Amino acid sequence: MAYNPYENVLKVMDEAAQILGYSESDIEPLKYPERELKVSVPVEMDDGSIRVFEGYRVQHSTSRGPAKGGIRFHPAVNNDEVKALAAWMTFKCAVVNIPYGGGKGGVICDPHELSERELRAITRRFTAAIMPLIGPEQDIPAPDVGTNAAVMGWMMDTYSMLKGHCVHGVVTGKPIELGGALGRNEATGRGVMFTTRNIMKKLGMEMKGTDVAVQGMGNVGSITAKLLHQEGMKVVAVSDVSGGVYKKDGLDIPAILAYLGKDRRNLLSGYEEDGMSRITNEELLELPVTVLVPAALENQINGSNADKIRAKLIVEAANGPTAAEADPILNDKGVVIVPDILSNAGGVVVSYFEWVQNIQSVSWTEEEVNAKLERIMNNSFDAVYNIAQEKKVPLRTGAYLIAVDRVVKAKKARAIWP
Ligand code: GLU
Repeated sequence: MAYNPYENVLKVMDEAAQILGYSESDIEPLKYPERELKVSVPVEMDDGSIRVFEGYRVQHSTSRGPAKGGIRFHPAVNNDEVKALAAWMTFKCAVVNIPYGGGKGGVICDPHELSERELRAITRRFTAAIMPLIGPEQDIPAPDVGTNAAVMGWMMDTYSMLKGHCVHGVVTGKPIELGGALGRNEATGRGVMFTTRNIMKKLGMEMKGTDVAVQGMGNVGSITAKLLHQEGMKVVAVSDVSGGVYKKDGLDIPAILAYLGKDRRNLLSGYEEDGMSRITNEELLELPVTVLVPAALENQINGSNADKIRAKLIVEAANGPTAAEADPILNDKGVVIVPDILSNAGGVVVSYFEWVQNIQSVSWTEEEVNAKLERIMNNSFDAVYNIAQEKKVPLRTGAYLIAVDRVVKAKKARAIWP
């Protein structure tokens, strides 16, 4: 059966609902996103031609608060992917207990092929098109694959221009000058680092000297690699769209990050280091490493490669990197998986801090942000770990037990309208 990310989320959610003893009517409403909007985004390209891009914004749930979740600019964006990403946001916000529902958006485009002016034009027209859905009390976008602080700045400006006044709280992950939170840029990777530290401690593993491979060198992968390296881990492999590099004794991560550049304009295919070899993204996943951090796209570990995974521990930094069919194969092999909705929640946690600062017109120091993030990540990890131990289930099921319970309880407390 072809991989469908939304079916994938429903399967995991259903399993948790069953263990929790919820009835079909309790869980049924969560199977349908509350709102789905598909928009066309006509843009005048630099050569004078008009191209029409397709965009989406999906609100999966607003039971626990406004919809929250990123905007993805990628050629493979599609409706089922955006629906799945929106549902993952619902459960992610619930597992770390921040007062949001889940949403997600995307535009089918390749930002690498666009000039800055074209990218800004897509962003502005897309923002105008989804204007009826978004707002600081309704639905708050943020960066995701292919978007960044600059894109969030243009979104905030477009929304503010159309409203006629400045609205900081409509998006998070903004440039610092526009009310962006200090520490937001690094937050997802920092959360992945805290999570890796937490699970390794539980498993009695030392970070110092332990080998790790990181798939993906976007915002999340590059910061995760940097912070794990700083913690003393031996980062033996990293990759991006152009492929990967591998060095058994550990790569020079600061040199790689310097080479890739601030906006990661350079590709790893041009990077050279003594003693390294080139590998594909698929090969990276199957390396004989202790820890594997998939930080790219969904469905990387699936039915066709799960039995070839040699890592003992997988910390999911991407959304949905492991397909549901791969979970039992990995569980049988004794591979410990820390699920995406827990390990990559640092981004949305600091997005929440940004939004809180924006609506109160206050600003926190980076130290305050990082300390608050660490506390939430540690507490959420402990809660997931403990329930998984208690119920004798994998950590993914543990995380969904907490998340689904919180969302269903909120829905029940509100009751069905009218
Ligand atoms: N795109 C990020 C995620 O998948 C962040 C979402 C947000 O900050 O709202 O979690």
